[in-house]
Amino acid sequence: MIAPATHTVSLDQAPAAPGLARLVAAAEVGSPPPPEEEIPLYAPRRQIYPQSVHGTFRRIKTAVLVVSLGIYYLLPFVRWDRGPNAPSQAALLDLPNHRFYLFFIEIWPQEVYYFTGLLILAAIGLFLMNAIAGRVWCGYLCPQTVWTDLFFAIERLVEGDRREHMQRDRQKWTVETYARKAVKHFLWLMVAWWTGGAWVLYFADAPTLVKQLATGQAPFVAYAWIGILTFTTYTLAGHMREQVCLYMCPWPRIQAALTDEYALNVTYRYDRGEPRCSAKKAEQLRVQGQPAGDCVDCLQCVHVCPTGVDIRGGADLGCIQCGLCIDACDNVMSKLGRATGLIAFDTDINIKRRLEGQQPFFKLLRMRTALYAFIIAVAGGVMLYTLATRDSEGISVIHDRNPMFVRLSDGALRNGYTIRIVNKRLKRREFILGFDGVPASLIDFVGLPPRDDGQMLIDVGPDQTREVRILVTDYGAPPPTSTRVVFRITDVATGEQSDARDHFFGP
Ligand code: SF4
Ligand code: SF4
Repeated sequence: MIAPATHTVSLDQAPAAPGLARLVAAAEVGSPPPPEEEIPLYAPRRQIYPQSVHGTFRRIKTAVLVVSLGIYYLLPFVRWDRGPNAPSQAALLDLPNHRFYLFFIEIWPQEVYYFTGLLILAAIGLFLMNAIAGRVWCGYLCPQTVWTDLFFAIERLVEGDRREHMQRDRQKWTVETYARKAVKHFLWLMVAWWTGGAWVLYFADAPTLVKQLATGQAPFVAYAWIGILTFTTYTLAGHMREQVCLYMCPWPRIQAALTDEYALNVTYRYDRGEPRCSAKKAEQLRVQGQPAGDCVDCLQCVHVCPTGVDIRGGADLGCIQCGLCIDACDNVMSKLGRATGLIAFDTDINIKRRLEGQQPFFKLLRMRTALYAFIIAVAGGVMLYTLATRDSEGISVIHDRNPMFVRLSDGALRNGYTIRIVNKRLKRREFILGFDGVPASLIDFVGLPPRDDGQMLIDVGPDQTREVRILVTDYGAPPPTSTRVVFRITDVATGEQSDARDHFFGP
């Protein structure tokens, strides 16, 4: 058993980011910067062969992948009984009828503010995740990460793990190499194709659309979207991979501006790892009373990294905080009989505290985490409350614009309105329309017969809207230029009511 390292390193020994280290070295020796034409504008792409790894974070990643992709591919086939007048698909974006269904929730176009609320919750949720544990969204939940992880798994299955794959790529390509690559790309294309296929199933009845797609009877737009998403998935997850995170996605830059020194990040504990040397050399150095770190420079943490980052160089824009390097290093430390956690979710503050002989501390509850949690709770609470108590009917009013009013030959004033009544229930309902605000007025319903009691009955089909046009004529004293009026619908059967406000205009 090799004794754990007991030395510490000073703050000056902390590793700088590789690019920064090069700059500092050049400045120290006073060497002139290289001529401008020698500095390439773009870093050449390095092929990354991430090695498979076992451990806690790998298991979490696999679980997230299975659950999220399982939901994405299978949800369109889940049924939800809403009665005879509504679709039975649990998650459906019904564009022709302007509805969004998600299990018991049905969102109408007038309720698009729920999507706004969801976007706010998603953004603040992302900020909260970032404040607690850095880019965990990138490492575990981002679609680019999830699909790339799946494509890596297929690649390893067909072309072998890192070493085998690299060796085969370096050697002269044989028939077997071509065959393996063909199988890999075929499987990638199948996954990409099914990804596009699953996407369109959210916009129509899934079993019906599957049959139509199989028999060539689906609308052209469905085939077009499947083609587009097959291409984008295959390209982004199969070929561009980490390039999307490094160069295309804005979140790493935004995230860097939103983080603080207490956010947990995947951190190489250089206070424990440096100076790095082989296990044998470390033993010799320790016997001689010399400092030796726990890092044996085996590069396992680099080999498993899906973006090719060496986390020992410090915080890196390319690090998506997936934690796979933690698993790799923990496995190495366990084999060496040393304590795990040389790479861990930690903060730079804690490293400095350890170097100064103080206890590390973790501060999850901070002003920003409390604020984000509060906003999420309030926005989520308001959304749930409005969803639970929202009306099953609605009314909206549009006043005629041109002319705003008409003076009749007998001197009376007339205003015209278009009323839209919404019935969100899955059964036919009858409403009485009431009007309040101009006492001596008469209402004409254009094209609707009055009831015996003189009131107008407006019949609205299940899960539908109906538009009626009315003319309000004021026979009383001349009204002021603008009078506030209220339109009210009342369900004849249940007495449920909804209001809308507008104005009655005069000269
Ligand atoms: S896996 Fe651990 S021991 Fe190996 S190089 Fe990385 S940090 Fe050092
Ligand atoms: S450095 Fe570690 S945490 Fe960061 S992306 Fe690479 S493997 Fe994941």
